[in-house]
Amino acid sequence: MRVETICLGELATNCYLVDVGGTNVLIDPAQSCDALTSFLSDRKIDLVVNTHGHFDHIGGNWELKESGAKLLIHSADLPLVDRFYPDHPPFDRYLNDGDMLPGNLRVMHTPGHSPGSIVLIGEGILFVGDLLFAGSIGRTDFPGGSMSEMNASLRRLLALPGEYRVYPGHGPSTTLRREKMANPYPGQRPSTTLRREKMANPYLTRLGVNRG
Ligand SMILES: [Zn+2]
Ligand SMILES: [Zn+2]
Repeated sequence: MRVETICLGELATNCYLVDVGGTNVLIDPAQSCDALTSFLSDRKIDLVVNTHGHFDHIGGNWELKESGAKLLIHSADLPLVDRFYPDHPPFDRYLNDGDMLPGNLRVMHTPGHSPGSIVLIGEGILFVGDLLFAGSIGRTDFPGGSMSEMNASLRRLLALPGEYRVYPGHGPSTTLRREKMANPYPGQRPSTTLRREKMANPYLTRLGVNRG
């Protein structure tokens, strides 16, 4: 499965284009803009999957719906979208935990960052939205956020057997193994060590502090 990434919008949201055997799935179109248009080139998007209903993940929905794409989201984020974007076009399908999408992408309902946050599980890859980032996790202080649900969702995600490349809603991709080992949030590690952060914290490794 080929994954192409473009980073868009004021919050630098990762939009992922996945070609699953002739069906183009776009995950989290952050906004409609020239950059997105030229990224898509002449490729027609069949399905738009929103990992959740925050504006920085649905901004391109209007335009893509007009071009014929079907819009998919978990219904628990519908109140959020209705409240903040009453002019949003109707969704075409509401996703549930365990649903299968083209390309054998499986839906996992992972509330916490928002009530309807989902993860898409492919073969060896995870699209996690704002649940998990390299070295960090999503915020829970937005409307509908819940730290206890967040913890339960992270535990479920980390319990997945096998190794996965993780594509988050923001920032660099990572692996599930690396986050299990080094992310201070999942697993509720109360503290960390300077050595571990030097080795594993993506912000610090970018500074090159682990070399010195
Ligand atoms: Zn979000
Ligand atoms: Zn986001």
